[in-house]
Amino acid sequence: MAANDIFARIIRGDIPADIVYRDENCIAFRDINPQAPTHILVTPIKDLSGLQTAGDDDAAVLGHLMIVVRKVAEMEGIIESGFRCIINAGPDGGQEVPRLHIHVLGGKRLGAMLR
Ligand code: 5GP
Repeated sequence: MAANDIFARIIRGDIPADIVYRDENCIAFRDINPQAPTHILVTPIKDLSGLQTAGDDDAAVLGHLMIVVRKVAEMEGIIESGFRCIINAGPDGGQEVPRLHIHVLGGKRLGAMLR
């Protein structure tokens, strides 16, 4: 059965979103609650509930998502100023939407998180 998470509904066009990029394998759109001047979500068309459920056969789609992150960063004019990618995976990771997605944040100096 096809997924019915909020991002699946955006992919199907059932609910609106500010889509900045789309191809046959993924879609990228602006986060509804941006945490930086640029805050875009990149998510696959394939139903994948999160990085935690990705299989060995998902290597191509995962790699493709990263290339699209780079394209989106170029389109947003943050490729040289820099950006941050975040994947929240599962409850302790703070994942709210049960579909794999990469947050792309930039447009300001982001605070340090890991040091
Ligand atoms: P997560 O916590 O699952 O990694 O991130 C989910 C993200 O999806 C949040 O940053 C949230 O603001 C965003 N979001 C939730 N619902 C919608 C929606 O309907 N449209 C858009 N564009 N973003 C959403």
